[in-house]
Formats: sequence, C-alpha cells, structure tokens
Amino acid sequence: MQEKSKKITLFGSTGFVGRQTLEVISHLGLNVIAITANKNVSIIERQIRKFKPKYALMTDERAATELKLKIRDSSTKILCGKDELCNPNLFEESNIIVNSIVGIAGLLPSVCALAAKKTLALANKESLVVAGKILTSLAEKNCAKILPIDSEHSAILQCLNGKFSDKFLKKIILTASGGPFFGKKREELLNVSVAQAMKHPTWSMGNKITIDSATMMNKGFELIEAHWLFNVDVQSIDVLIHRESIIHSLVEFADNSLLANLAVPDMRLPIQYALTYPERYTSLAKNLNLYEINQLTFYKPNSFSLDALNLCKNALISGGSLPVVVNAANEFAVDLFLRNRISFLGIIEVIKFICTAYKNSPINNIDDVLNADDWTKNFANSNLDSFVKYFK
Ligand code: MG
Repeated sequence: MQEKSKKITLFGSTGFVGRQTLEVISHLGLNVIAITANKNVSIIERQIRKFKPKYALMTDERAATELKLKIRDSSTKILCGKDELCNPNLFEESNIIVNSIVGIAGLLPSVCALAAKKTLALANKESLVVAGKILTSLAEKNCAKILPIDSEHSAILQCLNGKFSDKFLKKIILTASGGPFFGKKREELLNVSVAQAMKHPTWSMGNKITIDSATMMNKGFELIEAHWLFNVDVQSIDVLIHRESIIHSLVEFADNSLLANLAVPDMRLPIQYALTYPERYTSLAKNLNLYEINQLTFYKPNSFSLDALNLCKNALISGGSLPVVVNAANEFAVDLFLRNRISFLGIIEVIKFICTAYKNSPINNIDDVLNADDWTKNFANSNLDSFVKYFK
C-alpha cells in the first residue's frame, strides 16, 4: 500500500504517545479518520483543526459538549461518551488503529480493532497484560496484526526482521533503564517523593508509565506483553538493566549470537515503524552517534526491581485472571501514590496485598476480564483506609 494513502484512527490522541503519533502522521503525510480523547478539550480542538478528522470522540460527556460548542465551524463529527469507543465509524475506513490510551480503558478499542480485522498499532500494553490470549487469538482468527509501539517490543520485532517468531530464537532480552532509583536499596526509597519518582533518566513519558518505570512494574508488564506478542515462555525472557537506553532490546538465537536494536531514545521511531511496517522511511528522530555516547553499560536487576518483575512473572505463570488483578491493583496504587496517599514502596505492597486476597479464576471472555478488574477496584476501595494507614 502507498504510505500516503494509509488511513489512521488514533485512540488517546491528547496523551504523550498520541501527540507524538500525530507528529509522525504529519511527517509521513498520512490521513487521520478519527481521534479520541478523554477530556482535554483545548488539545483536541487544535488537533481537529490541523488534521481535520471525520470523527472525534470525547469519552467525558461534559468535555464533549464543550468541544461541540468550540468547533461548530468544523466538519468533524463529535461523538460523546465511553459507549462510543467501539462505534464502527471509528474503524471502518481506517487501515491502522493506533491505541495509545493509558490503562485498561484501552482494552475495548483493541478488541474492536481486531474484530474489525484492522491492524492494531498498540501502545496500550495493558490490553495484552489483561487479555493477551483473547487478543492474540482474535488477531489470528481475523488475520489481523498487532504491531507493538512499546519501544522494547518494536526493537524485538525489528531484530526478528519484522517477523513475530523464529524457530532459532532462544531468548528475548528486554532492556530497562532502571529508572530514577537505579542502584538504590529499599531503605533508601522510604521517603521518595512524587517529583523524584517522576524524574526518568532517559525517556520523557506520561505520569503513569513514568511511575511504572520507577517501580519496574512497567518492565513486568512488558514481560507479559513480550510473551503474548512473540509466543515465548516467560522463562526465556530476561531483563537487563541498560542505563543509556540506546539498545532497545535484544534477541538471542540458538547459536548464542545476539541481535540488538540501537537508536536514540525517541518514541517517534517505534511509532513510525508500526505505521510504515515493514518498510522504513526518513524519520523525525536524530541519528545515533555511538562515538559521542562512548560507552554502554549493563547491570542485573536488583532485589527491589525483582519484586515487581516476579509479581508479573508469577501472575503470568498462574494464568487465569491474576494478571488483570495485578494491572488493576497497580493502576489503583499508582493513583494513590500520585495523590500522596501512600508511599512509593507502598505501591508494590498494595498490589501484593490485593493479589493475596484474590481467588484466581479462568478468563474465557472479555466479561471475565472486566469482572476481575471490577473485583479489584471494589476490593481496593473497601480497603482504602487501611492502605493509607499502613502504607503511607
Ligand atoms: Mg517500553
């Protein structure tokens, strides 16, 4: 397909990845059919005027009403409310559905994109964490592709030369920057502030993923994501701390040779690879000058990092709905931390507490996923006072 004739729907257009996706779309000269956002009226108004999509959805109803008043002069049709997230008009005309919604709120657009037999360019890793089996089966049944926007998974796909499996693949090595608290012992993290946790050393990202990077929950979720995307056992996925974020991940083959993907840390690269896959064009990212970088360093995850990684590994191995509970408990705990209600170390403790109380059950459909998510939110809310008291 000619690149310029590609048509895109973008879920989560006002967020960090959404805004960068529009930069890439503009650079490549692609068409935008629809954009969606939660409630950021001023940013989406600017996006509508620049990209002139046919549809724009605001999931927050009050924001939708405000937006309708502001763009009365535009031909863009405004849809309103969460119930419209699967409106066929958002999918029908598009070739690629980019999902950059944060959290489990991104699940339904992922399901609807694959049900509509569209290519899903996925930045919403939570979709795969909570419903990996459902989504990968649906993609296979409908001959639809799930292309990762997550930089590590994009790197792996590139190392595998655009394929999702390789019979000689032995191991996947996910790199992690180690976040702002690299090398710190648990005792040193007792009084970490939100501002300290938000200082990521190499990537600039949205709030939730930045905290997830600091706790290493992000890397745990990426382990689950890699398992579903590349059909690799969790035992064959390693995590390597790599401070410079230049190597975005590696694959190891049967003969012990490694392939790595290197580039400057710039999300516009993995976004572009998903939009032009399997082809490559000039990009907005700077070229990588290894001479200036001078050295690349590698470390093992420390015991604090292993806490989060093991929580996610165990959830994946236990199967059933436990990964849904880990994800929902994490969303809940990160929100509490960002609002200064619990401590940084309290995030993992809250997740562990909730997981211990959960009686695992199988996942057969999306309702099972949503029920496990609801159970977690209800249980977490009913224990809110204890969390605030014991994990502050
Ligand atoms: Mg990542």
